[in-house]
Amino acid sequence: MRGAQRAATSRGVIAPASLPRLRLIGLPTDSHSSFLRGAAAAPATIRAALASDHANDSAESGIELGTDLVVEDAGDLTLREDDDDPARIGAAVRAAVADGAVPICLGGDHMVTGPIVAAMAAVHGPLNILHFDAHPDLYEDFGGDPLSHASPFARIMESGHAKRLVQFGVRTLNRHCRAQAERYGVEIVEMRDFAPERVPIPDAPLYISIDMDGFDPAFAPGVSHHEPGGPSSREFLQVLHRVTGPIVGADIVELNPARDVNGVTATLAAKLVRELAALLAKAGV
Ligand code: MN
Ligand code: MN
Repeated sequence: MRGAQRAATSRGVIAPASLPRLRLIGLPTDSHSSFLRGAAAAPATIRAALASDHANDSAESGIELGTDLVVEDAGDLTLREDDDDPARIGAAVRAAVADGAVPICLGGDHMVTGPIVAAMAAVHGPLNILHFDAHPDLYEDFGGDPLSHASPFARIMESGHAKRLVQFGVRTLNRHCRAQAERYGVEIVEMRDFAPERVPIPDAPLYISIDMDGFDPAFAPGVSHHEPGGPSSREFLQVLHRVTGPIVGADIVELNPARDVNGVTATLAAKLVRELAALLAKAGV
């Protein structure tokens, strides 16, 4: 176990090991991006935004990273964009859980969620998943790639790794994906029907997957797939703040720094790390 008595935070502050522990795991990969590469560069930009002196360490609730919970950083996993990457991702997630830390993974393209959830489900049993995305990511395969970033939730559902999958932000449903959603019993609050209070918040064990293209591109331009008509940062937070925790893990994926404007998308992703961390501390995991 890392730090028997005390553990270092990302800023080197010493905090008691009895606090909840969050572990950032960078997953720099574009192996299953279908349109543009770029997400592999995201973990470094999110960390930089998180460490930047432009903001303090507080979530909106007042919970402070490094004071109310410990933030560990496992660094970036060495990924080779080969067939073994899912196993590498699963091993890093299992190691975090074995150490008593809650993993928050920084993608990377959305493929990473499949192996993360598989590893988490091996510990907790089938998860309840809250998934924010412009896309349902339910393609049986995309362009012949069953591991495409357009398919992770098809893989998760067919594997039985989710008890319940709740999606919001979705505004790209075609016939195939509607059929897939019906086949797998996916609960979708479509964007055309969206209001923050309409999104059901699943019970524990709760996992949260955040695709940055779920936001309206005005709020998060640094993504590969701009899809107008999404919620604002505030509307997303109105959903997230309805989660009472605990969460067993989360990911933030599909940030493409090459498309970002003045780092606003990376800054939003860093804020999301703080808000997810607050859920962890609030629940006293
Ligand atoms: Mn998406
Ligand atoms: Mn996605």
